[in-house]
Amino acid sequence: MSIMERLEFDVVVVGGGHAGTEAAAASSRLGARTALVTLSRETIGTLSCNPAIGGLGKGHLVREIDALDGLMGRVADRSGIQFRMLNRRKGPAVRGPRTQADRRLYLNAMQEELAGQNNLHIVEGEAARLIHTGSQVQALELADGRQLKAAAVVLTTGTFLRGLIHIGEKKIPAGRMGEKPAVALAESLDSLELPLGRLKTGTPARLDGRTIHWDQLEMQAADDPPVPFSTLTDKITVPQIECGITRTNSRTHEIIRENVYRSAMYSGQIEGVGPRYCPSIEDKIVKFGERDGHQIFLEPEGLDDPTIYPNGISTSLPVEVQEEFIATIAGLEKAEILQPGYAIEYDYVDPRSLKPTLQTRALHGLFLAGQINGTTGYEEAGAQGLVAGLNAASLAAGGNEITFSRTQSYIGVMVDDLVTRGVSEPYRMFTSRAEYRLSLRADNADQRLSPLGLEIGCIGSERQSHFKTKMAGLERARALCESLSMTPNEARKHGFSITMDGVRRSAFELMSYSEIGFDDLIKVWPELSSVNDSDAKQIEIDAAYAVYMERQQADIDIIARDEAKSIPDDFDYDLLSGLSNELKHKLKQVRPASIGQAGRIDGITPAGLTLILAHLKKLDASKKGAA
Ligand code: FAD
Repeated sequence: MSIMERLEFDVVVVGGGHAGTEAAAASSRLGARTALVTLSRETIGTLSCNPAIGGLGKGHLVREIDALDGLMGRVADRSGIQFRMLNRRKGPAVRGPRTQADRRLYLNAMQEELAGQNNLHIVEGEAARLIHTGSQVQALELADGRQLKAAAVVLTTGTFLRGLIHIGEKKIPAGRMGEKPAVALAESLDSLELPLGRLKTGTPARLDGRTIHWDQLEMQAADDPPVPFSTLTDKITVPQIECGITRTNSRTHEIIRENVYRSAMYSGQIEGVGPRYCPSIEDKIVKFGERDGHQIFLEPEGLDDPTIYPNGISTSLPVEVQEEFIATIAGLEKAEILQPGYAIEYDYVDPRSLKPTLQTRALHGLFLAGQINGTTGYEEAGAQGLVAGLNAASLAAGGNEITFSRTQSYIGVMVDDLVTRGVSEPYRMFTSRAEYRLSLRADNADQRLSPLGLEIGCIGSERQSHFKTKMAGLERARALCESLSMTPNEARKHGFSITMDGVRRSAFELMSYSEIGFDDLIKVWPELSSVNDSDAKQIEIDAAYAVYMERQQADIDIIARDEAKSIPDDFDYDLLSGLSNELKHKLKQVRPASIGQAGRIDGITPAGLTLILAHLKKLDASKKGAA
C-alpha cells in the first residue's frame, strides 16, 4: 500500500489510550478504513494511573464493552493479576468485577488485539490541527505537515490538552509524566469555539516494592477461582498475586496538615476541579477531618515489576513532603519513591455540546470520547470510545446514528448524563447512577447488548457463534425450569417454605425465593442436572430478579415512548413564549434529541415539556399540510 493511499481514511482516531483503542477497534469492526494516530506506538494501551480495570459500576461498563465485542474485557483477562468480585455479599445488580492488571501485559495484549483488527492502521505522529470546510470535518493535520483525510475524526486525547503537571510548587507542561502536552491541537479546538473548561486529577507516588516491609502488612488474596470479564474467556491463566493493606496515621496527617499550603491543590496554583470520588490524601485529611487513618492498598504494577502503586494517597505535595509522610506509614518506613505523586490539570470540552452519538454539534464529523469529555477512568473512556467509534464509522458509511438508552445499558446512562447534565467535576460511573440497575447487571450485559451489537454489525464471528450457543442453552434451560412445577403443599414436603396460597409455581418461579437455589431443585427434579453450571447460575439470577424486572418494565416503557418522540436539532426554543429565558437557555445548550432527554435536564418541568410537545405537533401538522 502506498503512503498516499494510506493517508486517506474513513475514520481517524486521535489517541491510543482507553477511548482511542476502543474507538479505533469499533470503527474497524464496522468495516471503516481507520487510522489510529498516536504520539508513540509503544504507549498504546498505557494505564496512566492505577493498574486496575473494573470496580463498582466500572465493571459493568467493561462487561458492556465486551458484549459489543470491544477489547477491554479480553485484554484485562489476559493481564489481570488479582481478580476480585467487589460487593460479593450484596445482590448481583451491584456486584463489581475488578482486577489489578500487570501494566506491561495489559499494554502488550492491547497492542496485539489492535494488530489483529482488519482495516486498522497505526500512524505515529502528533495531531496538530483539524481541517474543515464550513462545518464539515475534512482531515487531520499532523505536526509534521502530513494530512490524513477522513469523513470523521474522533479525538480521545485524555489529559493531554494543555496538560500541566503540578508537584508542590513545580509545574511541568505534560500530558502525563514524561510525555509532552497537546498544545497545537488545543489551539485548533479554540477556533471551533467549543466550550472548554479545566479539570484536574492526581496520582500517588510509585514505590519500590523491594523496600516495603511486607511481613508487617495485612495481605489480600485474589478470588479463587477468578471470574473473567469476557464471555469469550474460559479461564484466567495469568498467575494471581496478593496485595498489601496499610493505613495512614495521626503522624501522617500531622505532616500533611502542616504542609498543605505547599500542595498545588491548596496553594491556589490549580484552577481545575478534581474528582470528588477519587480524592487526594490532602483532600481526605482537610475535607473529611481526622479519622483513625485512611486505608491504602499496596498494588504491584506487574508480576516481574517491583513498582508498587499505593492506592489511596494521590498527592500534589512537594517530593520531600511525600517522602516524609510516606515514611510514617506502617510497612513503608524505608520505602523508596520511584516516581513522585503529582496532579495534572487539563482542558476538557463541556459534553453538553455533544449529541448522544458523541459527535460535536459545532463540527459535523468531529467526535470526542474519554477524559476530554470531562470523565475520569479507563472504563468510562473505553465505553465512550466504543460509542464514538461506531458512530464515526456509521457516519462515514452514510449509516444511521447508533445510540444507547439509559434503560438498556450503563453506557446509555453515562452518555445521557454527560450530554444532558454536563459535568462539574470529573465524572465517574457508579451503580447508583442507573435507575434501572436491577435489570442492568454485569452478569446479563451480553443478553442486553449483544443482540444490538449483532444488529449494528460490530460483533465478530467468534462471539456471534458463542453468543448464539449460549442463548440457545439458556433458552432450553429456562423452558425446562418453566415446564416443571409444584404446589405449595408439595413444596413444603420438600422442605421449601413458600406462601401457602394454593398457586402452582414453576421451578423458575420457585427460584425467586432467596433460599431456593438451582441445586436444591435438582434434588427434586434430577433432569435439571442436564443444565450446565454457568446456565444454572444465570437462570438462578434471572429468576431472582424476574419480579422486579416486571415492575420496572412499565417505567422503561414510558421512557422508551418519550425517547421515541424526537426533537429536531434546529428546534427553535425562542418560539415557546410560555418558557422562561433560563429554561430556553438550558434547552439551547443541550439541544435534547428527544422529549425523554429534555425531561432529564435540570429544572425542566412537565409544563415545559407540554409546551415543547405542543410545538412539535404544530411542526408535524404544518409539514403534513405542506406535503
Ligand atoms: P488517555 O488514556 O490519557 O489517552 C490519551 C491518548 O491520546 C494517549 O495515547 C496520548 O498519547 C494521545 N494523545 C494526546 N494528544 C495527542 C496528540 N496531539 N496527537 C496524538 N496523540 C495524542 N482515573 C481514575 O479513574 N482514577 C484516578 O485516580 C485517576 N488518576 C489519574 C491521574 C493521572 C495523573 C492521570 C494522567 C490520569 C488519571 N486517571 C484516573 C485517568 C485515567 O488515566 C483516564 O481516565 C483514562 O486514561 C482516560 O482515557 P482516555 O483514553 O480518555 O485518555
